[in-house]
Amino acid sequence: MVTGSAAQGSAAQGSAAKASAVTSQAMPPVGVLALQGDVAEHLRALRDSGVRPVAVRRPEELDRVDGLVIPGGESTTIWKLIEVFGLAEQLRKRVADGMPAFGSCAGMILLADQICDPASGQQALGGIDITVRRNAFGRQVDSFERDLDVRGIAGGPYRAVFIRAPWVEAVGPGVDVLAIEPGTSRIVAVRQGPVLATAFHPELTPDRRVHQMFVEIVRERS
Ligand code: GLN
Repeated sequence: MVTGSAAQGSAAQGSAAKASAVTSQAMPPVGVLALQGDVAEHLRALRDSGVRPVAVRRPEELDRVDGLVIPGGESTTIWKLIEVFGLAEQLRKRVADGMPAFGSCAGMILLADQICDPASGQQALGGIDITVRRNAFGRQVDSFERDLDVRGIAGGPYRAVFIRAPWVEAVGPGVDVLAIEPGTSRIVAVRQGPVLATAFHPELTPDRRVHQMFVEIVRERS
C-alpha cells in the first residue's frame, strides 16, 4: 500500500517533470534587452508568439536565454546603458556564437556591423553585415506607416510603422534582403543567418508575423 502510493507519487512526479520539459522546450526563453525603448511591447509580442519572454539587464540573464530582441527606442541611449550595465562583451560574444537576435529600429542600428552616422561615442554591437543610416527617413514628424511585402511572411502585405527610422545603405554578400520600402526603394528588413533586423516596429502593431518568424528561427536553433 505504502509502496503502491509511493510508486504512484513518483510516477506522477515523473510525468509532471516530463510535462514541464515539454513545455519549456515548446516555450524557449527569449530575452528582450530591457534598458530603454519598447520593452513591454516586445515582451507582449513574444508571449503572443508562444515563447517565454524574459527581461534582460545583466550578463547572467543573457546567459539563460535562447534568443534576444533589441527593441526600438534610441540607439545612442541603449548603447550608453549597455556600457553602464557591462553588457557589451557578453552581447557581442553571444551573437558571434550564433544566438538568434532580432533588432527593431534602434535595435537594427545596434546589430549593424556599421553605422554611417554614429553619434559621438556610439558604437555598433555588430552581428549583421549591413551599414545603416540613422534617422534616414527624417525626424519624428516624418513618421509614417506603409504596406510592405516581407519575404518569408505569408498572408498578404505587412503594415509597417516607421518612427525616425534608419534604412540600410549597404548589405554584405551573406545578407538576405527581406523588404524594401516602396516610396524610397530603400532596404528596411534583413536577415543574416539567425540575426533579423527591421527598420520598422513590429512590436507596435497587433500583427505578430515578424515575431513569429523570429520565434521560428529561435526554435530551429535551440
Ligand atoms: N532614430 C533612433 C535611433 O537612432 C531610432 C528610432 C526608433 O527606434 N524609433 O536610435
